[in-house]
Amino acid sequence: MTHDVLIVGAGPVGTTFARYIAEKGFKVGIIEKKTIVGVPLQCAGLLGKQIKEVNILPDELIINPFYGAYLHSPSDHILKVAKNKPEAYVVDRVGYDKFLAEQAVDAGAELYLKHNVKGLDLKNSHVLMGNGKTDFIGKIIVGADGNDSIVSRTLSMGSSDGKQLQAAQLLVDFGRDIFDMDYVNLHTFSSISPGFIWAIPLSTSTARVGLFGNFNYHKLNDILKNFLSTKPEFEGYSVIKKYTGKIPVYDSKKMIVKDNVLLLGDAASQVKPTTGGGLIIGFKCAQIAADVTEKALERDDMNILREYNENYRKIFKNELKTQLMVQKIFKSLSDDDLDYMFVKLKEEGAEEIISKYGEMDDQSPLVKKLFKQGILFKILPKILLKGLSILWK
Ligand SMILES: Cc1cc2nc3c(=O)[nH]c(=O)nc-3n(C[C@H](O)[C@H](O)[C@H](O)COP(=O)(O)OP(=O)(O)OC[C@H]3O[C@@H](n4cnc5c(N)ncnc54)[C@H](O)[C@@H]3O)c2cc1C
Repeated sequence: MTHDVLIVGAGPVGTTFARYIAEKGFKVGIIEKKTIVGVPLQCAGLLGKQIKEVNILPDELIINPFYGAYLHSPSDHILKVAKNKPEAYVVDRVGYDKFLAEQAVDAGAELYLKHNVKGLDLKNSHVLMGNGKTDFIGKIIVGADGNDSIVSRTLSMGSSDGKQLQAAQLLVDFGRDIFDMDYVNLHTFSSISPGFIWAIPLSTSTARVGLFGNFNYHKLNDILKNFLSTKPEFEGYSVIKKYTGKIPVYDSKKMIVKDNVLLLGDAASQVKPTTGGGLIIGFKCAQIAADVTEKALERDDMNILREYNENYRKIFKNELKTQLMVQKIFKSLSDDDLDYMFVKLKEEGAEEIISKYGEMDDQSPLVKKLFKQGILFKILPKILLKGLSILWK
C-alpha cells in the first residue's frame, strides 16, 4: 500500500499531524499497533490553556478547568498561584486520543489498527510489518510512535534512545471533600527532584496522584504510598486504579529528520524538561512538521524536510534551555533549600509575580522576570545563577 505520508503511531500527536496533512489533500496512512486508540490511559491529562490555540478540544472532554496551583515545599510551605481565567484543563485523555484519531479519519486519513511496525527499509521507503502482514510504502515516513520509537531506534536517530523516565499514577478516592477544584497541587521533595508529585482533582474527593522520576515503577509506587499515608488530611484514602507510563528524557541533540523520515512528539523527545508534559509542544511541532511536509510534497523535494529541524530549534531552543536549567537547579536543592526558597519567595511577593507571568508551557518569561527583579539572587547560590544569566546575555 502506497501513501504520500505514512505515520507510525496513532497517539495524539501523530493523529493531529495526520489530520493536517489529510486536510491538505494528500494520501495519509496511520499505522497503530493497539486495538483501541488511547487505551490504556498513560497520562495525567493536564493541558495548559494554550491547548485552545494549538488544537481542537471539545468541551465535553474537559473534566475540570483550573485557575491556578498550590505549590508545596517539603515541609508544606505553600505558594498559591492564581489567575482569573482558566490556566489549565484536566481532560479525559482516552476520549481525547480517540477524538483526535476520528478527526484524522474524517479528514481522509486511513487508520490501520493492530499493525505492529517491526522496522524500516529506508532505501525503498518501506515500513516493515512482519507477521505476514503487507508492508506499507510512504514517500514520507513519520515516527510518531512514542518514547520507545522503533523508527528512531532503527535509524539510530538519538543517543538518548532507550533512556526514559518511569511514571506512576494512582486514581485516588479520599472519601470526603478535601480538594479545592480550582487548583492543582504540586508537591516538591529533594529525593524525587527534578520530579514532583502531582494531585490533580477530578472532583472534590477524587484525584489523579502521580509522579515521574529516575526510579523503577515499584519504587515510584512506594513513594506515592508513603506520601499519601503520611499526610493526615489524606487519612482513609483508597486507590481505585493504578497506571504506569514512560516519559522520554528531553534530548537537545536528538536528530528529528533523516532523509525522508521525520520524528514527532515523544518519539522526537519533544517534551518539557521540567514537567515531562508532551502534548502542547507535540501539537505545536505537528503544525511545524505539517507545513514543511506540504512544501516538500508539492515541490517533490525531500531536502525541504530539513526545515522542520531548523524551524523547531528556532522556536523552542531558548525555552527548552531555560527549562533544562530550572531542572538542574531543582535537582541540586535539598529539602531545607526548597523550604527556604518557598518561604523567601513568599516574603519577596513572588506569588503575585508567578500569578502574573507564570505559564505552564512557556516558563522562560517567569524565570526571566524573577531573575531581573533580583528575586533569584536572594534565594539561589551564585553558581546556579551563572547558567541562567548566560542564557539571556
Ligand atoms: C503518567 C504520565 C502522565 C503524563 N501527564 C501528562 C500531562 O498531564 N500533560 C501532558 O502534556 N503530557 C503528559 N504526559 C506525556 C504525554 O502523555 C505524552 O507526551 C504524549 O502521549 C505524547 O504523544 P505522542 O502521540 O507523541 O505519543 P504516544 O501518546 O506515546 O503515542 C504513540 C503511539 O504509537 C504507537 N506505537 C508505538 N510503537 C509502535 C509500533 N512499533 N507500531 C505501531 N504503533 C506503535 C503506540 O501504541 C501509541 O498509540 C504524561 C505521561 C505519562 C507517562
